[in-house]
Amino acid sequence: MKVVSCIPQTGPCPMKCRYCWYNRYSHGPETPEPDSSLVRMNSGHDSNLEKDLVLKTAKRYRRVFFNTMKNDLDFPGPVVLTINNVETVHGLHPSGVQRKDNLMFVRIRVNPDNMHLVLLDAISWTGHHVPVILTPTVYFDRPRQDELYQYALGTWRPTNAFKTRVLREVQASAGPLVKMIDDYDAQCVFYYGAWEAKKTGSCAVMTEGLQ
Ligand code: SF4
Repeated sequence: MKVVSCIPQTGPCPMKCRYCWYNRYSHGPETPEPDSSLVRMNSGHDSNLEKDLVLKTAKRYRRVFFNTMKNDLDFPGPVVLTINNVETVHGLHPSGVQRKDNLMFVRIRVNPDNMHLVLLDAISWTGHHVPVILTPTVYFDRPRQDELYQYALGTWRPTNAFKTRVLREVQASAGPLVKMIDDYDAQCVFYYGAWEAKKTGSCAVMTEGLQ
């Protein structure tokens, strides 16, 4: 299944998360024509901002999921929740989230400096059977100078060695529900399907996921 992005809001996302990849430039509304694609709402904004507009726009699509950093998961479809918009402190804990039933997965932003936080946060979420996707920070305005990142295409990107090591360390404690971001479209399709299966009762708890 194809994945397309939809951002009905205009201009940069006002959440101003540190090192936001999308806010390097301003963007206009992006509302693809409905087809059989899976629609990713607000990857590059936040589904809780101008929420009435987001919900009205999402109604056009058959398969849709939402993205937010805010602790409001009241959406008519599954939600990807990024728990640590500030990556230097612990992220949102599952005990503080009322609706966990419609979580597709949580994203945790990871870099060489916050591994100790990420490990504990991942354990707390997989303990509630919520899949976790680790997303290494991509630095475009604060170059790193260590061997864990490499400079390419104007940004400092995490090396594969870093990603492999982080995944191994976090999985060792938090289990196989933790994945590293990889082919993100394929991961979104997989977890959307898992959420649908759980909703319809054809799969009680997902324990493996993508390899
Ligand atoms: S919510 Fe998403 S798009 Fe908005 S600033 Fe944060 S990371 Fe960027």
